[in-house]
Amino acid sequence: MRYDNSKIEYTNACKVIPGGVNSPVRAFKNVNCSPVFITKAKGSKVYDIDNNSYIDFVSSWGPMILGHSNDDILESIRKSSINGTSFGAPTLSETIMAKKIIEMVPSIEKVRMVNSGTEATMSAIRLARGFTGKNFIIKFSGNYHGHGDSFLIKAGSGVLTLGQPDSPGVTKSTAKETLIAEFNDIISVEKHFKNHRDKIAAVIIEPVTGNMGVVLPKDNFLKKLRKLCTENKAVLIFDEVMTGFRLAKGGAQERYGVQPDITTLGKIIGGGLPVGAYGGKKEIMNCLSPIGPVYQAGTLSGNPLAMSAGLCLLNKLSHEIYYELEVKSKKIEDGLNRNIIATKTNAIVNRVGSMLTLFFTEKKQINNYKDACSCNLEIFAKYFKYMLDNGFYLPASQFESMFIANTLTEDDIDKFLDFNKKALLNLKK
Ligand SMILES: *Cc1c(COP(=O)(O)O)cnc(C)c1O
Repeated sequence: MRYDNSKIEYTNACKVIPGGVNSPVRAFKNVNCSPVFITKAKGSKVYDIDNNSYIDFVSSWGPMILGHSNDDILESIRKSSINGTSFGAPTLSETIMAKKIIEMVPSIEKVRMVNSGTEATMSAIRLARGFTGKNFIIKFSGNYHGHGDSFLIKAGSGVLTLGQPDSPGVTKSTAKETLIAEFNDIISVEKHFKNHRDKIAAVIIEPVTGNMGVVLPKDNFLKKLRKLCTENKAVLIFDEVMTGFRLAKGGAQERYGVQPDITTLGKIIGGGLPVGAYGGKKEIMNCLSPIGPVYQAGTLSGNPLAMSAGLCLLNKLSHEIYYELEVKSKKIEDGLNRNIIATKTNAIVNRVGSMLTLFFTEKKQINNYKDACSCNLEIFAKYFKYMLDNGFYLPASQFESMFIANTLTEDDIDKFLDFNKKALLNLKK
């Protein structure tokens, strides 16, 4: 592989864009190499400006569940654009989209469209605070909910005290109102409810976490969380920006049989265009402006192009698609496990549906943020580079999920597993 053009263009981009990218993980910083610039993508493949092609396991970080440049989705965008691209007024496609979401995610009775996952989660906690009249929120360390101020906080050395900001620019007073608990540890949540009785507005969680690598909820953790929130009159928010429409039609809540009060959505919902949404119980959603006092708005929200792309994709998500994704993802998981054993590598695979992470760790299980932090990032970087050089576009971070698209062919998967084994052997050199 040659990366000459990408290297030149990265230098050019760095002069006019902070770090050369519009979202940090794209910069490949954690894997010690220069990012590749993409020109186009089709099906399971992406192509860069040096004419290299890659089998893609990033899927635009989730949206491309049916692969890139799906013909029907492209056609729906083209058709919609003929009638204009934005009106700042109601359109029928917004009602159809709302009905579709409500049909797919039964805990949602009413839904509001926004333009990104970040907007969805920020709006959801404002709504939860407005609805309950309380201020504190609980989040879990290692969970990502977009870049809203209240979410850029994790636990300081596992101490269950008040949060410290993770990023300059987030004020201490904002950080103070975010309490940090540990994923899969219900006692860490109970403690907060005890210490801040009647002050906790909401608990927000990635029901299956993708943003510290894939971590599954264990031992009815989500059901216990549901019970705690109900008992304490706190709003339970499932952040399904990543898991929504990916783990099932109804997302992780369908898979694990737990109903949140509010759900946030993004990624797949826009079919590759910028869309987010949040929805839930009527009594909560009716607090929103213009019928309620909680303000939230958006010039381009419910944009007709975005609605048509999203609707086209959602309409295609049949049970057959999820079955196909499960079969392909299982094949990848089994192959990776065989390679790990054959090469005696210290690694484990966490998978649910078409989300999967290969963790380079000596641990036997990854159940929370602390476990995830045990991973060897140098080994991951070496693995990533080997795979990139051989034509596989993987998430450039140990703490991300691979997203399987249904356009991956048997041949793509066989090739991937073959090179994965070579990459693991290469780590020993
Ligand atoms: C990606 C993501 C977000 C943020 O969505 P953006 O569209 O990038 O703002 C929020 N929550 C989760 C769980 C995500 O994976």
